[in-house]
Amino acid sequence: MTNPKSTGGLPAGSLPVQEIFGPVPQGEGPFMGRRACFVRFGRCNLHCPPCDSKATWDNSRYDLRETCPPRTVEDIVQAAAAHGAGPGLTILTGGEPLMWQRSTAWAQLLEELPGEIHVETNATIAPNPVTTRRVAHFSVSPKIGRMGAADPQKKRLVPTALSAFADLAQQGQAVFKFVAGDIGEVDEAAQVVRAFQLPQARVWIMPLGDDAASWATAGADIADHVMHLGFNLSGRLHLTLGVR
Ligand code: SF4
Repeated sequence: MTNPKSTGGLPAGSLPVQEIFGPVPQGEGPFMGRRACFVRFGRCNLHCPPCDSKATWDNSRYDLRETCPPRTVEDIVQAAAAHGAGPGLTILTGGEPLMWQRSTAWAQLLEELPGEIHVETNATIAPNPVTTRRVAHFSVSPKIGRMGAADPQKKRLVPTALSAFADLAQQGQAVFKFVAGDIGEVDEAAQVVRAFQLPQARVWIMPLGDDAASWATAGADIADHVMHLGFNLSGRLHLTLGVR
């Protein structure tokens, strides 16, 4: 019998989870409003300054063993079911969830979670066959502008990963979501779309904002330009409604 592949120093068969919550409406992108359970994994390979999930990775401010303790697959599945997984979407987010896709626990989790699974990823790690077979949709968010300010371009924009996600987007299994706070950042997103030949109609621009007012201000500034470039504009419904 082979040993399960370990998960970065975690107990075998476990994955680091910061939180599991729902059911709530998916707040962003083309699935906005769909009933969803979120499973947020610990750790990330980027360090975006405006990140709203720093408790998943910022070990200068958080003890990650406390904020993202290892949980068994059985425990994660039970908690997800208790928070609405099954009838709607189960959204695996982070952090960067694809950091864990080589582990046995990830494969087992994908098998045991009920319903339609989505993954939210920062676009730096191509999904493997185990992941692409089970995941119905990838929301792929390359980091540019203020989001990308702390990491070098070669770490944020990985050609092999972007190419793999572009193929999935062409097949209807992924969309790209760029966070942009002003027209200059929308233009930076457009440069990435051109450089990596991402399908234009599968690109969403999400105005930068951590509350409803700042999202609306940025959105009003960039909406016309986003339309002019042939992209889509993403809401942040949870901010508008004041829910999670
Ligand atoms: S990729 Fe996402 S989770 Fe990671 S630092 Fe950036 S915003 Fe935060």
